[in-house]
Amino acid sequence: MPELPEVETVRRGLERLIVGRTIAGIEAIEPSSLTGVAANAVGQPVTGLRRRGKVLVIDLDKGISMVAHLKMTGQLVLRSPAGAASGPTATSKPTGDHAAAASAASNGPTGGTAGAPVAAPPRRQAATPALPGVSPTTASVPNSGAAGVSPIGTAAIEAGEAWGGGHPSDSLIGPLPDNSTRVVIRFTDGSRLYFNDQRKFGWLAVMPTAEVGAIPLLAKMGPEPFGPQAWPEFRRRARRHRRAPIKAVLLDQAVVAGIGNIYADEALWAARIHPETPIGALSDPKLKELLIAAGEVMDLSLKLGGSTDRNYVDAEGRRGAYLDFAQVFRRQGRPCARCDTTIIKTRVAGRGTHLCPRCQRRRQLPAPPAPKATPPPSDG
Ligand SMILES: [Zn+2]
Repeated sequence: MPELPEVETVRRGLERLIVGRTIAGIEAIEPSSLTGVAANAVGQPVTGLRRRGKVLVIDLDKGISMVAHLKMTGQLVLRSPAGAASGPTATSKPTGDHAAAASAASNGPTGGTAGAPVAAPPRRQAATPALPGVSPTTASVPNSGAAGVSPIGTAAIEAGEAWGGGHPSDSLIGPLPDNSTRVVIRFTDGSRLYFNDQRKFGWLAVMPTAEVGAIPLLAKMGPEPFGPQAWPEFRRRARRHRRAPIKAVLLDQAVVAGIGNIYADEALWAARIHPETPIGALSDPKLKELLIAAGEVMDLSLKLGGSTDRNYVDAEGRRGAYLDFAQVFRRQGRPCARCDTTIIKTRVAGRGTHLCPRCQRRRQLPAPPAPKATPPPSDG
């Protein structure tokens, strides 16, 4: 599963490539993968990309955003056919063009510089956009694309431009669309952004930028695990739990954002904490050490290209290097780098878990706290 570093890698890659490109049409091959009023995105240039936890936000002009969650098997792949404009600068049609397209799109159902008719009703965005995963798409750009979305062969990929990130599979480098392609976003320069998702747990949502933060997943999300400002908020949220195993707490996105199975195991090893330790048995300094370790291991992974999984290959053919540096993840049977004890694999919080049984000793909850638990009646 793509974790924070992989999603950040996707963000950085796409930021470099699609900011300034204008959306000509969106086709939902799998309607349940796209929610919101897709027509609102048509005619809008991409203005920036943000990430929060594992959620990617593609901001468009006119206060519209596209939110993406890659979940288990999602990936975003950009393809430009040979001869298509390459890079934001080359896409810049006269700005007047953008303005006209944008205004056409917002005035009626027929926006889109490439002339893609839009089936969506001309009504304004409803007060509450469809939430991801809650209701099927209410407006998908019609299948005019079916003919328009021609597979781009390998030769074209080689001659043109290809970039992809997310779940490692051949769809990152093979001809697209393929049987994992759920949504195709066409840009006015002829390039396309494919949202592929073999297992269909991921989603894309078009919504007003102002409402992105209110998506329940984002509204309750814990702090990013980087920097000194993360600690107080992480502590406050983590301490709501007492008996939960620390690994389960680390994986809880409402406690801290973006940590998945690999980085949880690596951070726990770095901080010498057994994954089953009840969080109530950990002191504040130990908990802080763990948070810092999580940030550092993600930072390292980002520097190495943010790969999570075996066989990770990005669209440029580079193999992600992170797992080469993993200390425990998928290293069962091999010696711990610190103490030479054999790494074991077990199961914690329902997840395969790797640890050094010597460096990461179990700890018990301390005795129940003194009976100051019952506060005196408050009389001011
Ligand atoms: Zn060890």
